[in-house]
Amino acid sequence: MDKALKIHITGTVQGVGFRPFVYRLAQRYQLRGWVLNGADGVHIQVEGAALDAFVQDLQSPPPAAQVHSLTVSPCAVEGFADFRIRSSQSQTSPTVHISPDLALCANCLAELFDPHDSRYHYPYINCTDCGPRYSIIEGLPYDRPLTSMKDWTLCAECAAEYHDPSDRRFHAQPVACARCGPHYFLQQGEEKILEDAIAIAARLLRQGHILAIKGLGGYHLACDARNPVAVQKLRERKFRKEKPFALMVADVAKARALVHFSPEEEHVLSSVARPIVLLAKKVELEHVAPQQYDYGVMLPYTPLHHLLFAADAPDTLVMTSANRSSEPICYRDDEAMTQLSALADAFLIGERPIVRRVDDSVARATPFGISILRRARGYAPSAVTNLPTQQPILALGADLKNSITLVVDGNAFVSQHLGDLPQYAVQQAFKETIHDLTRMYGVDIAEVTVVHDMHPDYVSSQLALELPAKKHVAVQHHHAHVASVLAERQAWHKKVLAFAFDGTGYGTDGAVWGGEVFVGSIATGFARVAHLLEAKLVGGDAAARYPVQAAVGFLAAHERDMSAAPFHFPERYQQATRLLANNLQVFRTTSMGRLFDTVAALLGFTEGISYEGQAAIQLETLARRARHAPVAPFPFVDNRYDYRPLLEYLLEARRQGVDTASLALAFHQGLARAIAESAVQLCAIHQLDTVVLSGGVFQNRLLLELVHGLCAELGLDMWVNQQVPCNDGGISLGQAALGCFHGSAA
Ligand code: ZN
Ligand code: ZN
Ligand code: FE
Repeated sequence: MDKALKIHITGTVQGVGFRPFVYRLAQRYQLRGWVLNGADGVHIQVEGAALDAFVQDLQSPPPAAQVHSLTVSPCAVEGFADFRIRSSQSQTSPTVHISPDLALCANCLAELFDPHDSRYHYPYINCTDCGPRYSIIEGLPYDRPLTSMKDWTLCAECAAEYHDPSDRRFHAQPVACARCGPHYFLQQGEEKILEDAIAIAARLLRQGHILAIKGLGGYHLACDARNPVAVQKLRERKFRKEKPFALMVADVAKARALVHFSPEEEHVLSSVARPIVLLAKKVELEHVAPQQYDYGVMLPYTPLHHLLFAADAPDTLVMTSANRSSEPICYRDDEAMTQLSALADAFLIGERPIVRRVDDSVARATPFGISILRRARGYAPSAVTNLPTQQPILALGADLKNSITLVVDGNAFVSQHLGDLPQYAVQQAFKETIHDLTRMYGVDIAEVTVVHDMHPDYVSSQLALELPAKKHVAVQHHHAHVASVLAERQAWHKKVLAFAFDGTGYGTDGAVWGGEVFVGSIATGFARVAHLLEAKLVGGDAAARYPVQAAVGFLAAHERDMSAAPFHFPERYQQATRLLANNLQVFRTTSMGRLFDTVAALLGFTEGISYEGQAAIQLETLARRARHAPVAPFPFVDNRYDYRPLLEYLLEARRQGVDTASLALAFHQGLARAIAESAVQLCAIHQLDTVVLSGGVFQNRLLLELVHGLCAELGLDMWVNQQVPCNDGGISLGQAALGCFHGSAA
């Protein structure tokens, strides 16, 4: 007995092979009817006998699809003769989600190395389950003429696959083959090499050369990670002293020889997003990630990467974003050729243009699950949550690790990581991305609520005010951190106790905040209930580059000559002490990040840092080497975390010759205990059961592990960021959520 159903599916379901998938399912169950891409998602009408099995199988869609909702309703049998893919209704609606770029799928990988396949060794092989999306889209609807593949005309064979609803390449917009599609070539000086470009590139890498390699969302600089001379040469050319390089490893087996990973970590490592995953080192590769506990490791994700390894490139490559130090990643061929000419010995260049830069993402496992630390390729620009609003909102994030969030029909689309806004080139990328996302989703800036940080001197705040928006809303930095965690869970009204610990953010009292505890919800806003005991900060944000300078204010209560053994603080400390005495360039701070710097300085990190967060990272690495596990005192009194007994303890222990690793662990344990014990007290007072942790300090996995252990004992529910970074890369999502509820206040 035939029945009929109407089915409506929303989410990332277009441009990801969803209609062919539905078509094949309908064939398998001998159902009749149709499927089409509508303005609001995919619509299906089916009739036949095996409807339950069909609906059941719809729940396991192609790897790139993300189903947000699936609604099924019965309808009348109309007596269709067959099952068809109907031509689409308007696809320009904002609810059409742009898919992120996807790693090469298993089917295409098999074809890539099958000598009998027509795309054997073709570096641009792809299908609806894999390949580029966001990085090649010029506009919506997602259709070949609006992608960077528009200049290549399909050959008859590719066209047949493209138009065959039962084919894996049905409407795969970037489909191509060696006959009709783009190619890779090697540029070495004036010489352009077309034949065997990949094999020659692999040989150059084996010989210790540095190559600029065009990937999905930009260029990488690559060299043999096991060749210390090559890695050191890359550091010198990039002016990159110590900041770790990411690695690309040929396969999972090779990764296992290099780093430790759990099944959960292996799962994210080989997921379609293929992020860089931070994994504990097994072996030390010289100059790759000095003083780090982890390597950032990724697996090959484009056909080109697989071909390079198959052509005998070294099995472990440094693969770092190609740019001049701290500029955004190069993605245009001409800019790469000029900007990287002094950095790379040769260029492996693919002809398919990259429409927008998308860096590699970074993820890691925590006791709370996988967390994304840099959200870009493979994730952006997916919607991470649904806000209860129909008003468009544009949230501009913070100045460091900037990302923006555009809310359309409630969908919160978080952009790729853009970089640090004080850099001029990043400001350009920031403006381009605002223009790009609003244009693609058909949003008129004049209708938008623009949300920005409260900091009056932020570049993003100033640019926000230049936008001719409907209204502007300023949000406090740490409120946004906390809201980002709640927004991921769509917990708009949930009242929580929230810890926002980071390096710096403009406080509502004008001080430099960063060790803040709040009570509240997104809907009601947040009240500050506790914080780090205030200290003086000499030189403001500049102090972040010199741990001993940050230490001056925190150590003010402890009269000691810090230039003597065992501390050996350099002259900068004395200079900053004089500034403090004369009250010059002195700010008030509650920054937990600067307390980490102070502790790092006391434990031997007395030089300037060469990348953000370095002192805290090295403190964590040091703590992991500890053989003893003391707990430093860090009392919570009158709603203040009093660092003075903590620092007194460390000063004294150092003079008694206690090893610095044990003291680094003592600090972590003291802080974890202070968080857990104060959380219990404050939850009891405010009648709360859920604790939120956000802010860059919580990138520290050791701290998270310790807090997780204590809070499990104490029976508290803990929420952390997972989909957006807990660092400032997640700020724009929190701003968007607060802008949604408090937009009328401005
Ligand atoms: Zn594929
Ligand atoms: Zn072709
Ligand atoms: Fe922050």
